Amino acid sequence: MGVSVDTALVDAMLKSAPRPEAAERPAESAAPLQVRRGSKTVSDWANEARAAAKSATTLDALADAIRAFDGSPLKSACEQAVIYDGVPGASLMVIGEGPGAEEDRRGLPFVGKAGQLLDKMLAAIGRSRGVNTFITNVNYWRPPGNRNPEADEIAVCRPFVDRMIELVQPKLIIAAGGVPAVSLLGSKEGIMKLRGNEYAYSTPDGFKAPMIPILHPAYLLRRPQDKSRAWRDLMLIEKRLAELA
Ligand code: URA
Repeated sequence: MGVSVDTALVDAMLKSAPRPEAAERPAESAAPLQVRRGSKTVSDWANEARAAAKSATTLDALADAIRAFDGSPLKSACEQAVIYDGVPGASLMVIGEGPGAEEDRRGLPFVGKAGQLLDKMLAAIGRSRGVNTFITNVNYWRPPGNRNPEADEIAVCRPFVDRMIELVQPKLIIAAGGVPAVSLLGSKEGIMKLRGNEYAYSTPDGFKAPMIPILHPAYLLRRPQDKSRAWRDLMLIEKRLAELA
């Protein structure tokens, strides 16, 4: 199938794009939070998450289990858990790094400026969260100061992420940015090496789907000169989705 990325549309979006959210945000402490709570270790919390995730047989039940989970040190400092948006059962699943301020306020992933660009990028390949795409993150609670989530903060969410993948059963997964790409693939490479390549992703319970990392839309807002790489990756994604349909 031919690939038709509407680069003019995304180009226009990038040219008119305001500075990314992080630059606009007032200074706030980005210090790592205490990961261990009470006598439980990160691996205790991950085990608890695994048990809760396993017993969830629907996305609603999984979302309830995530909201009830107390293993993330980020939970107490933010408004709410940001879990997913889009169409359950969609063939395309996008996994980002975690909520920012706007997502925390609205309780939905990718609804700030980076999210608006993500929506334009998806639209360029005929995809949207309203019709045929599911969107989530590797971490459900906003880190302070818009810092990246720490490895332990991601680790306690991972069983929920894997269960979500199993419940959605996507044909293809996009890892949006270095944080989800590196953590999900367990890679030592950075996003510049990983992006635009296809990897075989498996959950511990054996669900398999191809995963293609892309540059994070917030990065593209800061470095529009890298947009040609993003369009190449989108073209690959569109082609692979057509093949996998
Ligand atoms: N960036 C992400 O990676 N995820 C969001 O939900 C919002 C911004």
